[in-house]
Amino acid sequence: MPGQQQNLFDTQPPEWELDDAEMKRVARVVLSAGPHGEFDYLVADQFADRQKPEIFAEAGRRVQVPLGRGNRPVFGYCVAVAVQPTGGRKLKPLGKVIDPAPLLSSRMLELGQWIADYYLTPLGQVLEGILPAGVRSKAGTRETTLFSVPTKVAARMTRLDLPEKQARALTLLAASSKPLAMKQLMARAECTAAPINALRKKQLIESRVERIDTDPLLEEEVTRKPPLELNAQQAAALASITAALDKSKQTTLLLHGVTGSGKTEVYIQAIEKVVSFGRQAVVLVPEISLTPQTVGRFRERFDRVAVLHSHQSDVERHRQWKRIASGDVQVVVGARSAIFAPTPHLGLVVIDEEHETSFKQDTAPRYHAREVALKRTTMDRVPLVLGSATPSLEAWHAASTGDYQLVSLPDRVSNLPLPVVRVIDLRNHEHRKFGGALSRPLQQAIHAALADGGQVILLLNRRGFSTHVQCPACGFALTCPACDVSMVFHRQANQVVCHWCDRVEPPPTYCPECKDANIRYGGFGTQKLEAEVRARFPKANVLRMDTDSMRRPGSHEEALDSFRRGEIDVLLGTQMIAKGLDFPNVTLVGVVNADTALHWPDFRAAERTFHLVTQVAGRTGRGERGGRVLVQTLSPDHPAIVAATRHDYESFAASELPEREALAYPPFGRMARVVVRGPIEAVTLAVAEEFAGKIREASDAVRVVGPAPCPLAKLRDNYRFHLLAMGSDVDTLHVGLAPLSKKASLPDNVQWIADIDPLDMM
Ligand code: ADP
Ligand code: ZN
Repeated sequence: MPGQQQNLFDTQPPEWELDDAEMKRVARVVLSAGPHGEFDYLVADQFADRQKPEIFAEAGRRVQVPLGRGNRPVFGYCVAVAVQPTGGRKLKPLGKVIDPAPLLSSRMLELGQWIADYYLTPLGQVLEGILPAGVRSKAGTRETTLFSVPTKVAARMTRLDLPEKQARALTLLAASSKPLAMKQLMARAECTAAPINALRKKQLIESRVERIDTDPLLEEEVTRKPPLELNAQQAAALASITAALDKSKQTTLLLHGVTGSGKTEVYIQAIEKVVSFGRQAVVLVPEISLTPQTVGRFRERFDRVAVLHSHQSDVERHRQWKRIASGDVQVVVGARSAIFAPTPHLGLVVIDEEHETSFKQDTAPRYHAREVALKRTTMDRVPLVLGSATPSLEAWHAASTGDYQLVSLPDRVSNLPLPVVRVIDLRNHEHRKFGGALSRPLQQAIHAALADGGQVILLLNRRGFSTHVQCPACGFALTCPACDVSMVFHRQANQVVCHWCDRVEPPPTYCPECKDANIRYGGFGTQKLEAEVRARFPKANVLRMDTDSMRRPGSHEEALDSFRRGEIDVLLGTQMIAKGLDFPNVTLVGVVNADTALHWPDFRAAERTFHLVTQVAGRTGRGERGGRVLVQTLSPDHPAIVAATRHDYESFAASELPEREALAYPPFGRMARVVVRGPIEAVTLAVAEEFAGKIREASDAVRVVGPAPCPLAKLRDNYRFHLLAMGSDVDTLHVGLAPLSKKASLPDNVQWIADIDPLDMM
């Protein structure tokens, strides 16, 4: 575990023995993988010479060091160098210095150590997680083919008789002041690669290969826009942030603004202030909202914007990282991991859609960007702004206790009303007469919206065709043998798929149990909904958006673009379509089944449902034509659904918080989830039970619930048990969990993780 000292006495050859009193330069190293803890190595003179900066050993650089009896060379991070008495320790020499300059500042190392301690993750693994792969590998330039039009072609261009797309591409390329890459030309001419390749074959355009270290699309020119004139509420919100900027201490502001209330404009004007001080701002948005449209709003207002996200190539990420570190960037816009952007003078951090679960990483280190941002802004004594229409109850509670400062934008910009929401009670048989997923009122509403020239969004948070495959004769339901969850029928591929392990099988033609040939595909997924919508509205252009239909990089943006251009009448899909989209022509939103998340075995089920319904409802009524929302549910009286239909966050919070408090669940206490998994059920359970006992023994202040089988009790042939540890604060939890990491060995193939502040309860 971090902080723990380990030495390699027994493995040292005698010639490395040191005199007791001797002062030596010693590097402290944590390893990228393998044994945890800190290891000390002797720094030879060649690595101690500042005149040779490329091989100077210092904190923040990666090094290669010998490990174990065989002196196996391994990679690690140097976290400190000091000249000190060796105290009789026999130390091995540092092998190599890898980076020509530190990759991590001392601030970042400190932040890394905090994450290691907070999330009980070895520091080496944390640092490995903070630094993008492209930065570690120093991913470099890339060969790119650039096209241009030869002068003699340009001269006779008007006389050429070309197919439309080729003509357009050629004209645009000739008009460009500099050569263009394939991607760039495709985007400008709105065509595929085919017409461009045809031009190439006809030798109407010429190409040459150059090494460039940039993603050309990102460098497209944008037209700069002036600031908008803020309304009174926005101006007050901005004043609160600027007041916080003037203080030399950290403040967290929770900007609670309904969808469309103009939060982004407030962030931008606050950042303009930050930039005027010569400092940088980091803006975190959920991965799914990190679209060219979002980035464009910042690029319209700032000269130097860097973007960081997970679909970037290593080269591009490395390039952005270098730009940011050099101080040449005013604003960093990125997903979760952008909280580690190496800005030299951080002035402000903004987290938009703060409630989104994608801000928590689901692999080690299992950090939440909000917690890390809180720590980072505290270290730098700058404000943190959290924005949301539906804040997490954690943030809301912190605002109510005065830990955060609450700033509200209760109205939409230009006083557009929030859309009217109507609940369709699916228990009423009248509504289900047609047997499909769309009740009669929803069908009528779609007809009316389309007839009126509006666009429609339909949310169904389940992908696939059916949600289960069941035999009506004997009740047998098809489950994944490795995961013990229902297999889902995908009609397009004609397969049944496990959504957890991606196991794929041909659909059964008869029941494997009783051989009955009437095996059915029950429940509704997005594919079945798509088929139903196409059948009922044959003239409408329908597009399905879910992880199955949007696998290709860029397809998500393309789909949204064509929706924006009005080429799609009905956009249907999973929660992907519920987030942050701003389309004035959407006059109807239908929530096909509001109950999908309501009955999950998760104490946040109601909160998730409230967020989803409220967010998707906010996608309409953004233009002058207004909008309406229809929510289909079997639980019309559930407080989360009632509050969502009224856009009433405060009443939702008021109904949900007492329930959390009664059970001391977050935000009233802190929680850790320990998951133990292994191939043999009894052995796995025994380890989980032993863990529960150790935690109870270590602290009376920690309440332990479980172990119990996880809702996802079997995954990829491993049995899974979890236990929840709850305490008043994180320090208490750390005390309770401390004995777990000291456990020397576990039975074969049994593994465990600890998740602090867990969001995933499956
Ligand atoms: P939010 O982030 O709260 O959902 P946005 O920042 O996306 O809201 O704003 C919604 C729309 O209102 C955007 O099109 C934005 O350009 C516009 N807008 C924001 N502030 C103003 C303002 N002060 N005057 C006019 N339009 C505004
Ligand atoms: Zn499976």
